[in-house]
Amino acid sequence: MAKVAVVIPAAGAGERFGGQVKKPFAQIDNRPIFIRSIELFVNRSDVCQILLAVGPDDYEVVKDKYAANLMFMGIKLVQGGARRFESVRRALDEVDEAAELVCVHDAVRPCVLESWIDRVFKQAAKTGAAILAAPLTGTVKRVKDDAIEKTVSRKGLYEAQTPQVFRKELLLKAYADLPADFQPTDDAQVVERAGHPIAIVATDQRNLKITTPGDMTLAAAILRDIARQAKVAKPRGPFEEAQW
Ligand code: C5P
Repeated sequence: MAKVAVVIPAAGAGERFGGQVKKPFAQIDNRPIFIRSIELFVNRSDVCQILLAVGPDDYEVVKDKYAANLMFMGIKLVQGGARRFESVRRALDEVDEAAELVCVHDAVRPCVLESWIDRVFKQAAKTGAAILAAPLTGTVKRVKDDAIEKTVSRKGLYEAQTPQVFRKELLLKAYADLPADFQPTDDAQVVERAGHPIAIVATDQRNLKITTPGDMTLAAAILRDIARQAKVAKPRGPFEEAQW
């Protein structure tokens, strides 16, 4: 089983989200979104390290408020950058020697099925690079000045999601070679540039990226459904329930 270091970027400003609390720290059913995203990986035997990148403004607050939990779970806090790829790059500087794969997962995607993580880890171990992605289901329009310019065929179009998982050396080299004017919005784009093929593990829209306040309602419903199914498969003990 390949050892995986998990990078969780949580340093976004979340301008489309608004409100007093930044997206990753907003709560769904009394648990912050970023904690829910961390918990997807904490109890996996193939995960050897978890790095959490938070914004410089949030660093001390997160350290104070969650220090005990972060320490208990062996989570390393790093300061994120102004853009997502800069946050990831800073976390990559701290990746464990022992890790063979690096998994990058958005802090604002708490609704990932365990089976999807299993599959993307397995695929990346086999081919060196794999990401979760959902086929587009709607009719896609290119829009200009608030009017439709044309309909774009959705054949072969997927929305990239996270986790995105890469062989450690491949991702580190691809990031090291990134030109100064290249501003990728995900890590697959960095590795695509390096010319390495990236496999797709097909998912669906449940793996949503919480972006607007309306997404909180959707995410809550999806999480309750996942929890209901997990409870049937393996009940949680009272200690796990009380952790946060
Ligand atoms: O901005 P976007 O929705 O693409 O953010 C995806 C993830 O990247 C979020 O979890 C966000 O907190 C994180 N991010 C980051 N550093 C930034 C911008 C975004 O860690 N500068």
